[in-house]
Amino acid sequence: MAQATRLKRELFSILSWRTEARAATLPPERSQRVRDRVGQLMRWARAHDSLPDLRQRAVVLCFHGVVGHRPDDDAECEHLPVGGFRQLLHVLQRSFRVIGLGELVACIREGRSPPARSAVITFDDGYANNVEVAAEELARLHMPWSEFLPAQFIETGAYQWIDEVRLLVHHGDRRELSLPHGEGVLTLDLTTATSRHEAVRTIHQWCRYVPDDVRREWLAALYAAYPAGLIEDLRGRFRSFAPMTWMQARQLKAAGVDVGSHSMTHTALGQQSLDAIRREVFGARAVLVSRLGEDSPHFSYPYGRAASLSPQTEAVLTEAGYRCALTLEQDSVRCDEVNLLRLPRLIVAPMVGRTIFGLWQRFVR
Ligand SMILES: [Zn+2]
Repeated sequence: MAQATRLKRELFSILSWRTEARAATLPPERSQRVRDRVGQLMRWARAHDSLPDLRQRAVVLCFHGVVGHRPDDDAECEHLPVGGFRQLLHVLQRSFRVIGLGELVACIREGRSPPARSAVITFDDGYANNVEVAAEELARLHMPWSEFLPAQFIETGAYQWIDEVRLLVHHGDRRELSLPHGEGVLTLDLTTATSRHEAVRTIHQWCRYVPDDVRREWLAALYAAYPAGLIEDLRGRFRSFAPMTWMQARQLKAAGVDVGSHSMTHTALGQQSLDAIRREVFGARAVLVSRLGEDSPHFSYPYGRAASLSPQTEAVLTEAGYRCALTLEQDSVRCDEVNLLRLPRLIVAPMVGRTIFGLWQRFVR
């Protein structure tokens, strides 16, 4: 039996290594499809049962939206359909041990090993669908999880700017957009679904790290390129982008879900002045405490990549009493050497096979 497991592990290790080597030579969309297919094969073959019991290794998954059905595959492409969500949960239930973030943090702080193949489930951005769709699936499997709320969005009910960009780009009638960009002009082709996806990616890549006032001004120019009232109409039609209400957040807390802070305005903290970081961290905590009675000791960085992180931000988080802060640096957690204020996570792709493939990679590397 042990030999069969070893053989299985070796076979899938070779397959994953060869897949990665091939994916590296393909354009991004095709390489993702290749990983997705191999991930689905791994799910079908229960490959993860053969993973080694690395006691010092855990993985933290980061979900965003989960939807029952996706009426529009283009605008809603980042939401995970519930069927894929269930597939991934079954892999976790079968081959991993899902523990709460608090348990993982306690193990790391106390120098204990977490259970073999530990996985932690987290959600960023506070979409209402996390309560309406995902919560039920997780409760059925008795899986603990954490939700991270951008406080101001829950206060105001506003949609995230990138979701609004997606809605306008895919559902507005423009075939091209020309917008100011630094000293020049950025021209985006919107004639095909592929070029519209590319345009959203381009906007996301540069807009997320520019100062907030620059982004606001730039987005105002983008909104002005579309008929007045279109965005309100789209917000109404695409409720899958709506944030949860405080009532729903309290419902989660009452059900035992860990509800933490994802900052106040969802801005890249590493780019901000000390005063602004303090406003984002302490401001969000004050709102969470007043709305939910208490804040979790866990924090999640907006955007989560290098530009969102800084020693200054870590100092403010420590001062505010946070015990861990989650990034989106795509890695597993090496419990014996990790910085708790830079805990890496694996982002869950809308094509769930890709995540299943990624889970394998994170445990065998
Ligand atoms: Zn976020």
